[in-house]
Amino acid sequence: MPTDPPMGAAISDISARAVLDSRGNPTVEVDCFVDGLLAGRAAVPSGASTGTHEAVELRDGGDKWMGRGVSKAVTNVNGEIREALLGMDPSKQDEIDTALIELDGTRNKSRLGANAILGTSMSCLRAAHPIDLWKKISASGKTALPVPMMNILNGGAHANSNVDVQEFMVIPHGFDNFSEALRAGVEVYHSLKSILGDENLLVGIGDEGGFTPNLPRNEEGLRFVLEAINKAGYTEGKQISIALDVAAQEFYDGSHYHIDGTKLSGSELSKVYSNWIDDYPIVSIEDPFGEDDWGAWSEFTAREGQRIQIVGDDLYVTNQSRLLRGIEESASNAILIKLNQIGTVTETMQVIETAKEAGFATIISHRSGETSDDIIADLAVGTHSGQIKTGAPARSDRTSKYNQLLRISESGAPYYSLFQR
Ligand code: PGA
Ligand code: ZN
Repeated sequence: MPTDPPMGAAISDISARAVLDSRGNPTVEVDCFVDGLLAGRAAVPSGASTGTHEAVELRDGGDKWMGRGVSKAVTNVNGEIREALLGMDPSKQDEIDTALIELDGTRNKSRLGANAILGTSMSCLRAAHPIDLWKKISASGKTALPVPMMNILNGGAHANSNVDVQEFMVIPHGFDNFSEALRAGVEVYHSLKSILGDENLLVGIGDEGGFTPNLPRNEEGLRFVLEAINKAGYTEGKQISIALDVAAQEFYDGSHYHIDGTKLSGSELSKVYSNWIDDYPIVSIEDPFGEDDWGAWSEFTAREGQRIQIVGDDLYVTNQSRLLRGIEESASNAILIKLNQIGTVTETMQVIETAKEAGFATIISHRSGETSDDIIADLAVGTHSGQIKTGAPARSDRTSKYNQLLRISESGAPYYSLFQR
């Protein structure tokens, strides 16, 4: 059984390669060696509906890999980054991340690539704590298994369908422990499959493992998910509720939202959401508006922020200064956390801390392009974030995170349900 490296241990090598992600695109994987032994390995995820303000994912361009090669990022790790980190103490995550940020020298990590930097940062975190990473992440000693947000119906940029809303999720919040919650979510997933099959709407799955039916209206997605909750034998609202990630930036033209064949202002769209909240057991809506439509966010949060969780993803891109603006303007009451939006472990932890201090809920999240790397499971428990968003219970890129949470649950880490009534 590996143990944490001894005091005085030093990074002896850093080595990167390109591997494939769940969409068949190359991504960066980094190995961190300590005192001559491979101690930590990490792979970087990749988004499809990415926010404009995210740190830069360095891609090669050109013809190979449809322009999505990462050989420049790999070269940066194996050259400059390796050189800068050799000899450093792997347990000094803040020093490692500061060195990476300074070496890059840009505001958005565009020189070396946030993919090169994050892969290195995560591999060092793993190298410092090869076992029970979740325990080691917790600075305060406080840990908690999160409630899963399971994306069982995929639309938007993650599906080949006409559905505008990107994610219809179930939150199985009315259960005593993580494994029971997960089982309930899995049963709803299978119920939805059988309902859609009966309606001849089963055409495949999207990037996050959820089904991808064509639907006459977005609201039909809510109706199907609600039916699936009931068909699986659960009580909506009490045991299982619904969460949406609208990813509205994808259908925002800078002044209007194009949804269900109509063209709505932010205010008009917010009324559609309020009607949905009246009619369905919705407890959380992510990215209801565009990434710079701050006014619409604040107006909606003022009206519905007591009733539901309103989550900024593209709005905040795990960026401290954007989060501070959101806190100042009461633009939402929750933040989605994605390591690769900002590019280092340390900056991610700082954003989580700031959000918690402001009373915001925090949700640790995967990306639509994933690998089997399960580091976000440990991050969710170690930061007692309360919620994790990691797709449908299908395909190993998604289930690897749920399975790691099952392993962690054996250790007796407490379970935490924000929505428990
Ligand atoms: P992305 O989607 O990884 O394609 O950005 C996930 C999300 O929007 O939450
Ligand atoms: Zn999102």
